[in-house]
Amino acid sequence: MGGIGPVSLAASDDGVRVRAPGKINVFLEVGDVDDEGYHEVATAYQAVSLYEEVWATEDDEITVEVTGTVVLGDVPVDDRNLAVRAARLLAQTTGVRTGVRLEIRKTVPVAGGMGGGSADAAATLVACDALWGTGLGSAELQRLAARLGADVPFALQGGTAIGTGRGDELSPALARGRFDWVLVPHEEGMSTPIVYGALDEHRRRHAVDIAPRRRQPAVDADVLHALRQGDAGMLAAALRNDLQAPALRLRPDLAAILETGERAGALAGIVSGSGPTLAFLAADEASAIDLRVTLSAAGLHALHVHGPVQGARTI
Ligand code: ATP
Repeated sequence: MGGIGPVSLAASDDGVRVRAPGKINVFLEVGDVDDEGYHEVATAYQAVSLYEEVWATEDDEITVEVTGTVVLGDVPVDDRNLAVRAARLLAQTTGVRTGVRLEIRKTVPVAGGMGGGSADAAATLVACDALWGTGLGSAELQRLAARLGADVPFALQGGTAIGTGRGDELSPALARGRFDWVLVPHEEGMSTPIVYGALDEHRRRHAVDIAPRRRQPAVDADVLHALRQGDAGMLAAALRNDLQAPALRLRPDLAAILETGERAGALAGIVSGSGPTLAFLAADEASAIDLRVTLSAAGLHALHVHGPVQGARTI
């Protein structure tokens, strides 16, 4: 057959480009530790318009290069990189023997509590699946994603979702409209295990004063209602993150910035995931633009994003 036209040849020469979003946990309740030492959580994820881009091209081995607009700090460029782990897992699962060159362009703050590494892994699964022609369905990609980390399935799926178990058991959440956020990232990231450790330590020390948790963690009905209505005011009143208190104990300077944002017109501010990125919810797009300008004028690095947005997609 007279087969491959110039268009598909050009496409394969250029490799595959995929982008995947960072996330905000608009609700995160942390329960007890399971037998393997992981915390049971109930969370409401919202994917926001701050993206990681992965460009995958054919190569003999699996390699990665990381650039971006954020402080790259200690992002590993060897087998510890979550994108490399994603490519290896896909190759092993499908029996692919060729490699891939991964070029990651990060705009999600590193160790910022917005799931940037997870977005890289999700984007890599989609990119390599297309590059290698392995054609896995979305259910199979989700299964691989869950093996890479609790936040990876959500970065693949995007939108708005409820995560239970370790955060990786996703169910869809109805969401309407758009929510406008102003993010204040920090150059120095925070380790997720250390923040969970600080929460455990606090709960141990105050076990007598803290009422025992009798039920499994669950997302508050108010949050689901606010998302369904697309009502920013209602969502602002329902925002909750159990990791916020330990994150603020570890980084007391964040409390003053939370106050600054709320005084500057945010409906509410919250620590994103395990921090230290702060997310301020605005009433609408115009208020978010004003808030970003005010925070920038106060000398803070502030970014205006919106959600929900789609998960990992070829661009
Ligand atoms: P978490 O998903 O644990 O909430 P986070 O969003 O706070 O993480 P990430 O930027 O995803 O933070 O990464 C946390 C750590 O994972 C980094 O400090 C880094 O050492 C390691 N890491 C591995 N691969 C990557 C990657 N592709 N991008 C960023 N960090 C990575």
